[in-house]
Amino acid sequence: MVGEETLFCAFHPDIPTTLRCNRCGRPICPRCAISTPVGYRCRECVAGQQALFFNARPLDYGIAALVAVVIGLLTAPIVAALGFWAIFAGPLVGSLTAGVVHRLTGRRRGQWIWLVVSGGLAAGLVMLRLPLLLASPFALTRLLWDGIYLALAISTVIGYLRFWR
Ligand SMILES: [Zn+2]
Ligand SMILES: [Zn+2]
Repeated sequence: MVGEETLFCAFHPDIPTTLRCNRCGRPICPRCAISTPVGYRCRECVAGQQALFFNARPLDYGIAALVAVVIGLLTAPIVAALGFWAIFAGPLVGSLTAGVVHRLTGRRRGQWIWLVVSGGLAAGLVMLRLPLLLASPFALTRLLWDGIYLALAISTVIGYLRFWR
């Protein structure tokens, strides 16, 4: 009977393993193996693929921040006036902003673009509401709908810019 070949992890030479990275073929221990949709891979292969997948240029982050801050500033007074109804504006503003950013950045993918866009949208609202908050901490309860609006807008942005096709 031919026994299974005993391999040792390429990154931890003292740990025996039977796993191999299915891209480079290196033996990897369970601690080094990363489960991907196409099987177990080593850290280096996963990192290499991410570098290829995320092709945004530094300028794209500037464009994303600018677009988000401008839209955030323009929509903040409307959101503030809408009160409860602002929660319906959340997904709308989120997908609008993400769509504009996506187009202006040549549809390139950036690992942290979603974060920049979310921050920009939040900044507009925070700038508008800050004087109110500074005047009275009890104003926080009046900002409930703003918060829900922002959460919905941001989750839409994440869905659009982070997890799309
Ligand atoms: Zn590998
Ligand atoms: Zn290992």
